[in-house]
Amino acid sequence: MRDPDCIFCKIVAGELPSQKVDEDERTVAFMDISPATRGHVLVVPREHVRNLLEVDPEDLQATMATAQRMARRVSERLGVAGVNLLNACGSAAWQTVWHFHVHVIPRYEDDPLRLPWIPAEGDPAEIEAVARELR
Ligand code: AMP
Ligand code: ZN
Repeated sequence: MRDPDCIFCKIVAGELPSQKVDEDERTVAFMDISPATRGHVLVVPREHVRNLLEVDPEDLQATMATAQRMARRVSERLGVAGVNLLNACGSAAWQTVWHFHVHVIPRYEDDPLRLPWIPAEGDPAEIEAVARELR
């Protein structure tokens, strides 16, 4: 299924220009148009689905396998120091394109990216309480 208004569906179908770098039966990988760092790749399932909460488990598995392949490839070919995988699920979590995708972001020792939160020890009682809600 595809969404006629979705830019990533159009990229998958070849109806919008993109720099594709990998394709298989279930997934496509292409360069992000606004790269966070050199070599920033997006991996999407061919099938249109809004986000992580809705993606079919087999498409999720295939997307993660392609993300791993791309992480290995940027590591081998671009001399990167590390890789971040990022998924934004929901607008509060920074999702802007509503076709499930995983960012593969090469990291360099001197790149400007920083953790988006300041690690600080939490309240153990609150952590235990939320853990109970999640079991
Ligand atoms: P997110 O904010 O996690 O939904 O990520 C959407 C990503 O899609 C952003 O990093 C954008 O730079 C990227 N993007 C948007 N339009 C295009 C496009 N036409 N080709 C490639 N990447 C795109
Ligand atoms: Zn789509």
